[in-house]
Amino acid sequence: QTLDRGLEKTRNSFLHNLGKAIAGRSTIDDEVLDELEEILLTADVGVQTTLKIIERIQNRVAKDKYLGANELNRILQEEIAGLLAEKEDAQQSEIPEGIKPYVILVVGVNGVGKTTTIGKLASRYKKMGKEVVLGAGDTFRAAAVDQLVTWGERAGVPVIKQQMGSDPASVAYDTVQSAISRGADVAIIDTAGRLHNKTHLMNELAKIRRVIQKLIPEAPHEVMLVIDASTGQNAFEQAKQFSQATQVTSLIVTKLDGTAKGGVVIGVSDQLNIPVRYIGVGEGIDHLQPFDKMAFVESFFG
Ligand code: GDP
Repeated sequence: QTLDRGLEKTRNSFLHNLGKAIAGRSTIDDEVLDELEEILLTADVGVQTTLKIIERIQNRVAKDKYLGANELNRILQEEIAGLLAEKEDAQQSEIPEGIKPYVILVVGVNGVGKTTTIGKLASRYKKMGKEVVLGAGDTFRAAAVDQLVTWGERAGVPVIKQQMGSDPASVAYDTVQSAISRGADVAIIDTAGRLHNKTHLMNELAKIRRVIQKLIPEAPHEVMLVIDASTGQNAFEQAKQFSQATQVTSLIVTKLDGTAKGGVVIGVSDQLNIPVRYIGVGEGIDHLQPFDKMAFVESFFG
C-alpha cells in the first residue's frame, strides 16, 4: 500500500498518457509507438532503455499484427517486467546468512536522501533482529555527521564518528572494527557526496575499500548507490559517474512519492545493469521498501 501511494504520481501520469496514446486506435501502429516512445521518455525511462522497449514491442507486433492497441498496457508490463527480471540474478537476500559483519558502503551525491536512507536501512535491519553499526564517513559536512547521529538514535543503533574533516577511510575502518568487536551483523558506512571531481571520488572510494579490506578481505559486500527519482536525467548521469568511480552493486531509488518520473527505476537499472534493491517512498523511517519487480510494475500501471 505504501508502494502504491509512493508511485501514485508516476502511475497517474503514465496511465493518463498511455490512455491518450491509444484512444481511438485499434492496432499498435507506428504512430502509437511514437507516442509510446514519448511517454517513456517523459517518465524518465531514458533514451537507450526506451528504444529497447520500443524495439521489443515492435518485434511482438511484427509477429502478431493483430495485437490490439488495448493490449499495449499488458504487453508493456510484460516487457518492463522482463527487463527488470534480467537484473534479478544479482538480487540476494537482504542480509545474507553467514557473513558477519555484512559491510555496506552507501554512495550518492548530496541531497539525494542518502542519510535518510541509511537511517531507514538501519531501522529495517534492526527490526529484523540484526545488530547494526553505522559509520559517519561523510566527514566533509558537519551536518552530515549530526544528521546520521540523529538517525542512529531514531533507529536505536550506534554511530561511529570522528571529527569533521577526518579521513573517511579512517572512519570506515573504525566502523568495521567496531562492528567486528561488537559482534554486529551489519555495518553501514556513509560516504561523502561530492561529485565535482571524479578522480577525487574514485581515490576516496578506493581508499575506503583498501582500508576495510585489511579487516575483511571481501568487504564491502555491497555498494549501494542512492539516486533521487525526481532529478530525472541527473540521476542517470550520477549513476554513470559513480559506477565508473567504483563497483556499484545495487541501487536505491528515493523520492518516488514526489515525482511522476518513476521510469528512472527502469532506465538506470537497465543501463547500469545493476539491480534495484530498495525504493524510498517518503521521509519517514518506514518509508523504504525492498524492490519487488512485480509489485513495482503492477503499481506503475495501476
Ligand atoms: P543526503 O544529503 O543525500 O544525505 O540527503 P538527506 O538524507 O538529507 O535527504 C534530503 C531530503 O530528502 C530530506 O528532506 C529528506 O527528508 C528527503 N527524502 C529522502 N528520501 C526521501 C523519500 O523517499 N521521499 C521523500 N519525499 N523525501 C525524501
